[in-house]
Amino acid sequence: MALVRCVWASASFLDRDSDSAEMAFAYIAVSDAGDCTPFAKLPAAWHIGFRRERSGMQCAESVTFGGSGLDRAVHLRTDPPDGYVLPLWRGKPLLESESRRPVFLSTDHQAFDAASEPAVFLGLDEGESRFARDISDWLPEGGDEGVGAFNDTSEQQHPELANGCAFADLRQNMTRLSARDAELVVIGKALLEWHRTHRFCARCGAPSKMAMAGWQRDCPACKGQHFPRTDPVVIMLITSGNSVLMGRSGFWPEGMYSLLAGFVEPGETIEAAVRREVGEEAGIEVGGVRYLASQPWPFPTSLMIGCHGIALTDSISIQADEIEDAKWVTREEMMQVLAGDNPSMKAARKGSIARFLIEGFLADRLPLARR
Ligand SMILES: [Zn+2]
Repeated sequence: MALVRCVWASASFLDRDSDSAEMAFAYIAVSDAGDCTPFAKLPAAWHIGFRRERSGMQCAESVTFGGSGLDRAVHLRTDPPDGYVLPLWRGKPLLESESRRPVFLSTDHQAFDAASEPAVFLGLDEGESRFARDISDWLPEGGDEGVGAFNDTSEQQHPELANGCAFADLRQNMTRLSARDAELVVIGKALLEWHRTHRFCARCGAPSKMAMAGWQRDCPACKGQHFPRTDPVVIMLITSGNSVLMGRSGFWPEGMYSLLAGFVEPGETIEAAVRREVGEEAGIEVGGVRYLASQPWPFPTSLMIGCHGIALTDSISIQADEIEDAKWVTREEMMQVLAGDNPSMKAARKGSIARFLIEGFLADRLPLARR
């Protein structure tokens, strides 16, 4: 066997829009003769000893919805200057069909006749006010079949809007948005969803009113003030040597596996939530836990907190009411999954933090926890 050294081809492969097949072949073995071989195609014995780059998680904010430094202009929330408004219908932003860019309309556009609440102020984009407004009461001619499904590919055309734009599911389009567009849409979707589901005061039950350009709801009866809700969720890359723990929910498309995840409970640290969830769902004991990256996930109002955890035990015992299956997947098998070469398993959705962490694990660029 020829002596090889394995290098990480970091250049364009690290792009979050990179194709999964490219990702799978990102490790390249270079023989003494200078020939290059994709890592995934090497015999397993050659996988030992490739160089580990521990560059830290400097790319954490390159995750989809990782933000673009939008000026939220908090000081303007009492009376924001006029600007343009993104309509959302049942959580689906209005997107241009071709470019997939969000479409902002003038504040007095007829499409907003169906709105029951004012617009919410998102911030300043290059000095210009941006808002979002919910028009979920509008009923499209074709009905709402398929809306809200895991894979909602339906698109709704509004009669008051030009051809070439439609309300489209954010999950289907999230990896095609620029960082700035994604940040505007994610704020609008999460904030409007909070208003839609929190119309009454949680203290006294009276109808509450939107205040501070959408960043607060006030109760006229008891003077209570309510603020937008974000639900913390831990999502865990649990590893045991060269393998990562993957699980699937019975509600997901057939063959789809992802990292285990669960809500942080009151009175619980992030680390404790990681250990509890993995113990409950897969029966695995977890030692060291380390935070890696986070992702606002507006489905409906979560903040995904991505962590690495070291498994102290290997034997899986699933809790059937939580997940349908869990298994250990080796790095090499995972490369095949991302390349679409594994018929029994589908990769986590592009744009999800699960996919981001798995790709980071395969590229060996995560600052992993210690045992
Ligand atoms: Zn009240």
